[in-house]
Amino acid sequence: MDDHQPYFRFNPHAYEHGHIFERSADVCDVCSRPCVWKYTGSIFAKQSPSACARCIADGELARFLDDEHFALQDIELHEADPELAAELLQRTPGVACFNPFEWPVLDGKPLAFFGNGEDEGLLAIPDVRSAIEAAFAEAGWEFEGPTPYALIFQELEGERFRVAIDLD
Ligand SMILES: [Zn+2]
Repeated sequence: MDDHQPYFRFNPHAYEHGHIFERSADVCDVCSRPCVWKYTGSIFAKQSPSACARCIADGELARFLDDEHFALQDIELHEADPELAAELLQRTPGVACFNPFEWPVLDGKPLAFFGNGEDEGLLAIPDVRSAIEAAFAEAGWEFEGPTPYALIFQELEGERFRVAIDLD
């Protein structure tokens, strides 16, 4: 892992899927250096500067925007520890979604985004499948196979999975 590609524990596969970063030599508005990994996801704030992965991870983007309500996620978040909530909302690249969804939290800790329900590899994990079935059952539907509407999350230091439903 190089300095230009910081790790985001709440969105650990940010560079591989989600299309929220692209390789780019564009200059970052925050640090004035070439982005290397330019953020292409949404920034919910009054301004929308070009930003690199480094400036998201180290909080420079948050300082640059100087807007306490700014967020990189289009979510609802309940009962999360405030420090972890700030990290997830302001120092973690956004998870692409159709609509705002409720980000799963267990014991005050937000879970990490693991992937979506179209990924057959994830669906092969029995605990992931049961989490999707449980979320679908709660919504009154039957889970019938790969779906773009399930967002899968795993505990940071644990084995529990939770699923958020994200309908278009
Ligand atoms: Zn930067």
